[in-house]
Amino acid sequence: MALEQRPVGKLDHVVIFLGAPGSGKGTQAKVLAAKFGAPHLSTGDMLREHVAKGTPFGLKAKPIMERGELVPDSLVLRMVAERIERPDCSHGFVFDGFPRTVAQAQYLGELLRQHGFSHPFVIHMVISHMMLIRRLTGRRTCSVGGEIYNIFDRPPKMEGICDNDGGVLIQRPDDREEVIRQRLLAYDKQTSPLVNYYRRLGFLYEIDASKSVPEVEQEIAQAVANLK
Ligand code: AMP
Repeated sequence: MALEQRPVGKLDHVVIFLGAPGSGKGTQAKVLAAKFGAPHLSTGDMLREHVAKGTPFGLKAKPIMERGELVPDSLVLRMVAERIERPDCSHGFVFDGFPRTVAQAQYLGELLRQHGFSHPFVIHMVISHMMLIRRLTGRRTCSVGGEIYNIFDRPPKMEGICDNDGGVLIQRPDDREEVIRQRLLAYDKQTSPLVNYYRRLGFLYEIDASKSVPEVEQEIAQAVANLK
């Protein structure tokens, strides 16, 4: 039986994971959030939930996501503003996939000030495009618990089946190669300027994301501990 992880304390910061799709930011954001019992706020997951439920947000976002483009700021910002109003966010939270444009980052800065947070701590996951394509085309996600595998680097014991709960492993529709190229293009054009934006503000922490998951995890844990 898996032991439930006990939070190590309150996060008391807002942490942003910045990195191209496939850089491992989702995996690391989840781990860090769990460590502190803080909310893991993935705008991609929120949008996929809207799509699955067929909400008005979801209906608008679906074709855009399928093309690998960014959903308009107006929609994403409303979703984020509503989410961080909730009481579970009062001691900090971990963003995964947000902000993705300079406009989103500026808006976030304002929102954080309104909620009494100091500046965010931004972790930049640095990795080559070649490695990203391998990670993304090989990525499979459990349809039940959301566990993430990679058919090349971290395959499940039984093909197509989750080791944890027996759920069927699925490939995200936007992890097909032609869509991946579009997503990487969107990252280079719209999101990578955020690296300089946060670097200039002095909030950026760079990490070599080609290292193993436990190595990256340890480095992040140390960096966050030093924030205290
Ligand atoms: P992700 O799971 O973070 O890779 O996001 C999947 C898709 O959701 C992206 O390719 C975008 O279409 C959309 N998306 C997620 N987060 C954002 C955001 N902050 N701004 C705009 N679009 C987003």
